[in-house]
Amino acid sequence: MTPSEQPTSNQPVLVPAAGLAAYGARLLAAGGCSEAEARRVADRLIMANLTGHDSHGVARIPRYVGMIESGLVVPGQHVTFVNDGGTFALLEGSAGFGQTLGEEAVAIGCERARDAGVAVIALRNSGHLGRIGDWAEMAAAEGLISIHLVNARGRSIVAPFGTPDRRMSTSPFCVGVPWTNQPPLILDFATSVVAEGKVMVAAAGGPKLPEGALVSAAGLPTTDPAALYGPSVDSAAPDPMLGDGAIAVFGGHKGSGLNFMIEILAGALTGGGVNRTIKEEDVKPFANGMLSIYLDPERFAGREAFEAQVRDYAEYVRSARPAPGHAAVLLPGDKERGLRAERERDGLPLAAGTWRGLVELGQRLGVDLGDLRPKAA
Ligand code: NAD
Repeated sequence: MTPSEQPTSNQPVLVPAAGLAAYGARLLAAGGCSEAEARRVADRLIMANLTGHDSHGVARIPRYVGMIESGLVVPGQHVTFVNDGGTFALLEGSAGFGQTLGEEAVAIGCERARDAGVAVIALRNSGHLGRIGDWAEMAAAEGLISIHLVNARGRSIVAPFGTPDRRMSTSPFCVGVPWTNQPPLILDFATSVVAEGKVMVAAAGGPKLPEGALVSAAGLPTTDPAALYGPSVDSAAPDPMLGDGAIAVFGGHKGSGLNFMIEILAGALTGGGVNRTIKEEDVKPFANGMLSIYLDPERFAGREAFEAQVRDYAEYVRSARPAPGHAAVLLPGDKERGLRAERERDGLPLAAGTWRGLVELGQRLGVDLGDLRPKAA
């Protein structure tokens, strides 16, 4: 490495994905995961970085290790059946790692939908399920359409439409559609203006937040991460429960309504619980709840007919003239695919604070970087 490539501690860095995945897995293993689970979690986090969702990538590792240490997440858990009705099932996650429980829940959903054409699988009390698009991609690889509604109990950090007060979680919505011989269509977003992790990455020196992403306690728009994290804003694992502002809900009154319904379906219907922080004794620890619906296109219009229509419609939408400032009209998942190709080639860009947090965690846990050397981004 030449001296000019040597990053200073305040510079963003570029890190090769494979080496970072291995280092991330060593950190998680030192934090208490089995080697297999550590690798599974690290690989999913790296996929989030590769697809451009740094909010759900390795920046999470210090927080995940902190959650193990405080008993909020328990390594080595597997889903258990609370109810099993064949085409529907309710699964208990027992505060295990979402990356393990998510894979198990999706595998059950796919198996049931292959048999019956449709399946509805509810998962409750799961640790962080990460980038929800992972689960839609897993189902799409089995030729299945899937819809995922997720709430984050214990994370009342989003202000509904018309108030600066926190009442909602970032409740992601995700739909995946398989497409033979083509990458699947994956729609995957938080129903807040930004996912919480994007605020965390901005606090670590990453891309600034878009205007209107946050709302101050006084009800004014702000992009200052301290509104969400309060005094913990500079830590490697800032706590979004400590700020007096909130993340703004997306899509005005419509987004607010969608967020509300997702909270009910993913939190109340699963039994995992909805956000409720009005009374202190009602505050529950963080957990994701996920209601997933799986559909086999073969049992509806037929796979071939369905895909022909999807192809026609996709071509029609893509053929629209890009507006000034847009290179092309994108379909769900296009942006992530483009970024993945670029990042697999060039490495993963990490905010200075994210890299520093990983190095400091390694120092604390006695995990060395091995031959992992970042370059200045
Ligand atoms: P985002 O705002 O980047 O939106 C992503 C979606 O928009 C993708 O489907 C993408 O293909 C599409 N898209 C992006 N640019 C586009 C364009 N120009 N034209 C058309 N479509 C475009 O995502 P986000 O809200 O920041 O969410 C980030 C991640 O956070 C998601 O993976 C989500 O699952 C995850 N998340 C997880 C939790 C949890 O509790 N586990 C909570 C919230 C969010």
